[in-house]
Amino acid sequence: MKIIEKIDDMIRLRSQLAEPVGFVPTMGYFHEGHLSLVRQARAENPLVAVSIFVNPTQFGPQEDFSSYPRDPQRDLDLLEKEQVDIVFMPPVAEMYPPQFNSRVEVTKATERLEGASRPGHFRGVTTVCAKLFNIVQPTRVYFGQKDAQQAIVIKKMVLDLNMNLEIVTLPTVREPDGLAMSSRNTYLNPQERQAALVLYQALTLAQQLWSQGEKNAQTIRQQMTEVIQKQPLAKIDYVSIADAETLDELDTVKPPALVSLAVKIGSTRLIDNVVLE
Ligand code: AMP
Repeated sequence: MKIIEKIDDMIRLRSQLAEPVGFVPTMGYFHEGHLSLVRQARAENPLVAVSIFVNPTQFGPQEDFSSYPRDPQRDLDLLEKEQVDIVFMPPVAEMYPPQFNSRVEVTKATERLEGASRPGHFRGVTTVCAKLFNIVQPTRVYFGQKDAQQAIVIKKMVLDLNMNLEIVTLPTVREPDGLAMSSRNTYLNPQERQAALVLYQALTLAQQLWSQGEKNAQTIRQQMTEVIQKQPLAKIDYVSIADAETLDELDTVKPPALVSLAVKIGSTRLIDNVVLE
């Protein structure tokens, strides 16, 4: 497994490789969600590259960039076991030198949900992904459905800017009790970890109501909200039922609809979603 920190070295290495490259961009601190993407990339491509980069430009000034969990040695050991070929882990100053002045921005789909709650977040995500795609020149890039809006926004960037690669979105990996795996789950104390189940409970309720024939989106949102509000440690940021492509909020559920939510458990902000098919 080659470990590369310099952009020039990564570009040079890639120029020597003719085979398709499957690429998994990450911020590290791996869990089974990340590893599911790596395994799929391994199964579908002769070469697999993974990036580990905690991207400062996608964090707001009051967010957790400096405290975001990091354990590069453990991450590298895990990637070695998955037979990854290349790990790209640039320092921040390598990706953003002082004279860095460019931004990539997708409009519209970035204005709602996570974009509305976290101004500038998606500009940071699209800018770093555009850089990573230029550097790694992947054939297929793997994202998790856990960050549904991110996958939608990246697909739009790839389409609009004619990037010659395929985006693959894979299902959310959950803990046995339903909590979506996330590096940020490590922030939760035992009481909060229990309370965090309310996200999955609300999403399961939405699925139940939908399968029982409920089509009124506001009724579903309301019932989800009531479940979450019963949990004293939870504070709702948003509960959304939106068109799975445009992210327009729905009055009447029309599949595929993205049911997504952001809830603070104590001081930890968690997101999760399901799709009503
Ligand atoms: P991150 O390191 O949080 O930037 O995540 C890197 C990639 O892993 C993104 O495409 C995420 O959507 C994906 N991911 C994170 N959590 C999960 C999960 N629980 N299941 C599947 N994919 C995930």
